[in-house]
Amino acid sequence: MPGLNRLEVYFTYLTQWLNQGLDLIYPTDIGCVLCGKKACECWELVLQAYHTDIRCDRCGKLLSKPGICQDCTLRSPGFPDRVFTLALYEGHMREALHRLKYRGDKRAGLYLGELLAAGPGREVLKPDLIIPVPLHPKKRRKRGYNQALILGISLAQTLKVPLKTNMLYRVAYTHAQADLGRQERMLNLGKAFVAAPHGLGGKNVLLIDDILTTGFTLELCGSALRQAGVTGLQAVCVAAGRDGR
Ligand SMILES: [Zn+2]
Ligand SMILES: [Zn+2]
Repeated sequence: MPGLNRLEVYFTYLTQWLNQGLDLIYPTDIGCVLCGKKACECWELVLQAYHTDIRCDRCGKLLSKPGICQDCTLRSPGFPDRVFTLALYEGHMREALHRLKYRGDKRAGLYLGELLAAGPGREVLKPDLIIPVPLHPKKRRKRGYNQALILGISLAQTLKVPLKTNMLYRVAYTHAQADLGRQERMLNLGKAFVAAPHGLGGKNVLLIDDILTTGFTLELCGSALRQAGVTGLQAVCVAAGRDGR
């Protein structure tokens, strides 16, 4: 760099380096979280599908005709009274959730959280508090954050309701549960999550999670929360599969 002394060169590099760093944190020039384009209709299309698709009345899974899905004919009393599911777990939605969970893309989580607030957030009965489905502490440390907490930020702001991470704890891994039969899973009920002994009595709680597959995680959370005295329980999820998958 002719004409610059060593100190100026140093500052030039430092500024470039800082700008690159800031670009990573606050990108100004990247496109839509879902499709990657700078101008698109993803936001409108997701909300439109949310309001028009046929879903299970209880868990929000996509159905071919109105009613209740197969899983919801067998729910335990722990299952939320109502689950609102924003979108189908496929395509761009699936990729965005994958980036949020496994590639540290918190921007995707914030955007999906804003969609949750704009869609399901307008239909839930106003809760007393919002609880993100907790990760096992080991998993949370490994990932660095709980994606459900990021998804709940916008909802908590919009509904003006506290987002609580000290009311429900995950004390066991449950990822292998999907392979167990339903009866075996029910035997484990109540062991995977523990709710705070105080502060939940008579409360209306809204759980937040990223993906609903069998709904079993919500059932386990709900069971612990209801045992702690929660009287009203709803849940909001970003995505779910179709019934029968
Ligand atoms: Zn888009
Ligand atoms: Zn269902």
